[in-house]
Amino acid sequence: MLLTITTTHVPATDLGYLLHKNPARVHAHEQSYGKAVVFYPEATEQRCTAVLAVEVDPVGLVRDRRGFATTGLLDQYVNDRPYAASSLLTAAMNEMFRSALNGRSADRPELVDRAIPLAFEFPALPCRGGEVLLRRMFEPLGYAVEARQLPLDPDFPSWGESAYFHVTLTTTATLQAALSHLYVLVPVLDNSKHYWVGEDEVEKLLRRGEPWLASHPERELVARRYLKHRRSLADLAIERLVEADGTLGEEAPNDQAPEIVRGDSKEQSLERGLSLNDRRLAAVAAAVDSLRAASVIDLGCGEGKLLKVLLPSKALSRVTGVDVSHRALEIARDRLNLDRLPKALQDKLALLHGSLIYRDARFSGFDVATVVEVIEHLDEPRLEAFARVLFEFARPKAVVMTTPNREYNARFESLPAGQFRHPDHRFEWTRGEFSAWAALQGGRFGYDFRLEPIGDEDAELGPPTQMAIFTSLA
Ligand code: SAH
Repeated sequence: MLLTITTTHVPATDLGYLLHKNPARVHAHEQSYGKAVVFYPEATEQRCTAVLAVEVDPVGLVRDRRGFATTGLLDQYVNDRPYAASSLLTAAMNEMFRSALNGRSADRPELVDRAIPLAFEFPALPCRGGEVLLRRMFEPLGYAVEARQLPLDPDFPSWGESAYFHVTLTTTATLQAALSHLYVLVPVLDNSKHYWVGEDEVEKLLRRGEPWLASHPERELVARRYLKHRRSLADLAIERLVEADGTLGEEAPNDQAPEIVRGDSKEQSLERGLSLNDRRLAAVAAAVDSLRAASVIDLGCGEGKLLKVLLPSKALSRVTGVDVSHRALEIARDRLNLDRLPKALQDKLALLHGSLIYRDARFSGFDVATVVEVIEHLDEPRLEAFARVLFEFARPKAVVMTTPNREYNARFESLPAGQFRHPDHRFEWTRGEFSAWAALQGGRFGYDFRLEPIGDEDAELGPPTQMAIFTSLA
């Protein structure tokens, strides 16, 4: 398998200093899975190309029992490992280009931070997810992507296309940044389970993913695939990325990652016309009131807007907020003036750092749980875990839940058709979808539910926000 790296930075032979590999020589290294070689087919002032070639020994891999999952007997011996860029290539990158990946150059340290023109060419890059996914991975990082899908066998065109692409990525970046992108994204595109992932892979992902992965729009997909769909590890990584990014709910302050700020202001400005935010808070507070609750837990409390409304209520003796984002909780703490509140109110309020997709004993024992504009931020496959955490383990007497009504989006003139109100939304449900989900959970866990509109209802499309109120039958 091959990777070529070309620069036209002048003098182009600086690439040799950056890679710690003299262009005049061939550098070879035996690895447990084969042999890695670096050489330079071209090294002039104007243009310099380094090639990383890895000769994989598939039989040796089996012999070493490096944990290759296989589907049958033969594919241990006959597989794409020798030619497809995969985690073996990135393992070789790590071995051969370690200083460059770590941003060190002994002889030319000043080069390390220079953004230079770079082109990376992969003759066979497996892209499970196709060209669309390839672009979604690299374009947000500023790459121009050229991709040509390879036929399964050029002699038999009727067999169709393979999952492999000839790919050229061009950018102007520091070599370290670009190598770290490749290090993380090549195995993600491959998405096969060739190696066992342990806890230390989370650290590797976060280290190599710094500082770009936290604000990458596909960070969750990246983490999940990189960690080979080992859910617990991926969740851990995602949470740390979310924290690093400081992704907040609806009202991020200006020092947040630019995408998020844009997203937030988009959702806010869409909804501002209706002052939907205030109406939502008022509707949820009224629902809590009507349920005659003495204790409330606000799951995904964000910056504590609802907590601030609920806290003064005399009927409530306990108000707790939970969020996965440390930043959001800090803002909530400020917003609520927690440190200057009278002692009685301080005792009444708790802010917990936690995730809604893990069972957590601190969530139990409340009359009402509120979940305001949160579920649409959870990946759909994780809703199942959330439903159990909420209805089975936390088991409040009642739940008040809100989520956007996707049908209503057609009324937001500035929102292009098919787009969600916020880039972090993983889905937005129609009234039918929300109601079906609520009915399913109610049936499974023994809750009745009713739906209520929030905001001005459109005769045809319904309200902008939908609310479900669940009450326990037990
Ligand atoms: N309820 C608040 C915030 C809504 S934004 C309001 O109405 O203003 C969604 C919030 O859910 C964010 O603060 C986000 O950090 C939080 N969140 C997302 N995934 C979460 C998870 N797995 N566990 C806990 N909180 C989560």
